[in-house]
Amino acid sequence: MFLPVIIVCILALLLVLLVKNIKWFSRGAAGERTVSEKLQNLGEHYILIDDLLIPNAHGDTQIDHVVVSPFGIFVIETKCWSGWITGGENSSQWTQTIYKEKYEKPNPIFQNKVHVEAVKSALKQYGEVLAVPIVVVVDCERLKVNAPNHTVIMLYSLKEEILKYHKIIYTDEQCESMALRLRELSSDDKERREEHIQKVRAYQVVTQAKVKNGICPRCGGELVLRNGRYGRFYGCTNYPICKFISKT
Ligand SMILES: [Zn+2]
Repeated sequence: MFLPVIIVCILALLLVLLVKNIKWFSRGAAGERTVSEKLQNLGEHYILIDDLLIPNAHGDTQIDHVVVSPFGIFVIETKCWSGWITGGENSSQWTQTIYKEKYEKPNPIFQNKVHVEAVKSALKQYGEVLAVPIVVVVDCERLKVNAPNHTVIMLYSLKEEILKYHKIIYTDEQCESMALRLRELSSDDKERREEHIQKVRAYQVVTQAKVKNGICPRCGGELVLRNGRYGRFYGCTNYPICKFISKT
């Protein structure tokens, strides 16, 4: 007698999970599409490559957008986050505030630094290339990130930020050659992409566990409680060599 009720409950639960996943997926993908459209309008000397999966020292790394231009190579990480976003260059987490609810987000600067290294390594035959890291936050109402050494911007200033670079350092031929090299290295293989996603998830779990146990995920040092200008936080004992910090 209870069986139909149980089946209906299970189906309803599955439906909720499915809708949640579709929503999450389409939101991130829509953000990347919006950024890609903006980047397509930079001009004829700019070569845009979306969604690269290229090898690095730890396997593969996925990069949302790379723009190869005579003025430098722009490595762009897109985050589709609404609400107010606050954070720091070296903090492990940023905070998203939607009304009064607060959510922790992994600092995308760390992620983008890995991308920059992968691009530099992929293009090492061209010497030390000028790779400019940019984190663009789509959808947020307010962005307050203290990052003196990394560009973190909202969508409306993306084009202006890239156009700030106007000193020619590469010829169009060199740009085409570099773009070709990146495209050749990039993989569309579904299995390889899925494997990468699983690795990233596992890495996040390990990082969180280390912080919870007072271990610095960046250098293996000890995390200790410190008092800063903006309150208490956990900092690495290997400071200033390691600048990792985490919220209490
Ligand atoms: Zn450390």
